[in-house]
Amino acid sequence: MSGFGGPVETRVLKGRPVAAAIREEVATGCAGLADGGRPPHLAVVLVGDDPSSKIYTGSIERSAAKVGVETSVLKLEAGAGTAGVRDALCGLSDDPAVHGIILQQPLPAGTDPDVVEMIAPEKDVDGATVGSLGLLLKGARSFAPCTADAVVEMLVRGDIDIAGRHVVIVGRSAVVGKPLANLLLTKSDRGNATVTVCHSRTRDLSAHTLTADILVVAVGRPETVTGEMIAPGAVVIDVGVNRMDDPGSEKGYRVVGDVAFDEALGRASVITPVPGGVGTLTTTLLLRNTLTAARRARGVDA
Ligand code: NAP
Repeated sequence: MSGFGGPVETRVLKGRPVAAAIREEVATGCAGLADGGRPPHLAVVLVGDDPSSKIYTGSIERSAAKVGVETSVLKLEAGAGTAGVRDALCGLSDDPAVHGIILQQPLPAGTDPDVVEMIAPEKDVDGATVGSLGLLLKGARSFAPCTADAVVEMLVRGDIDIAGRHVVIVGRSAVVGKPLANLLLTKSDRGNATVTVCHSRTRDLSAHTLTADILVVAVGRPETVTGEMIAPGAVVIDVGVNRMDDPGSEKGYRVVGDVAFDEALGRASVITPVPGGVGTLTTTLLLRNTLTAARRARGVDA
């Protein structure tokens, strides 16, 4: 808090150095594990030809190669259908050489999205299944969705205390808001927060956001949180990724978060930028989870 009601000095907490530090740890872990056998292996299942999924898959492959995680991409025709995807996921779940599995979204029309449930929980490195979410809710060992995990990692590595503090999360999706709320409630130094979750039907959103020591925004609408909705001195984590038309820029658009960044400066004590914040960690955490899954498969405590 500023104490005198004046402007707060805002620290911009960038994701890249955090991601780099985790990558180094993962690379060391993979090298250690490769000594005794095969390196960690992540299987990516790609159904149809969604361009964004292809780009994301390519980026996973490149990042994995740099840290020593093996990858394989199982490409299925758009017409493979629910049965085809189910068979693929069951095969990979049964394959002892595969430690982590992700099913790229979106799936082609007509493929049941619930087919993701065929991923074995111990290989569900992006916490995409009901089984993983259930374990998380219970506080048991599981993998959380990487974006939710990335928020916790930014806080921990940004030297921001979580325990005992009031975290307000705006957004209640199964990918970000809900798993994050449960991660922050775990009985550990990475948790023990008091958590409020807001959504589109929350009355008087500002009344809630202004009570936050830590405010996490995962809404998918630019500038949903304005400066006056942030308590002076609060930590603000912006998960949003939104494309805004920008005819003056080279690409014709720019990427912005869910928080009015410029208004948060001088008010928040810490803010994560977009781009260059939470989103830079997700692939790295997917690889870390694959390493963890490989360790567990070998009976190494992780
Ligand atoms: P989502 O499934 O669309 O959920 C959005 C949530 O925001 C919903 O709970 C919705 O409430 C709530 N909401 C919408 N408008 C609101 C408003 N005006 N006031 C309060 N709450 C409001 O989105 P998501 O998948 O969680 O993603 C959220 C954002 O994070 C997006 O910008 C997405 O691109 C980004 N994201 C980034 C990464 C990454 O960096 N790698 C990964 C995943 C997501 P209701 O539940 O009432 O509809």
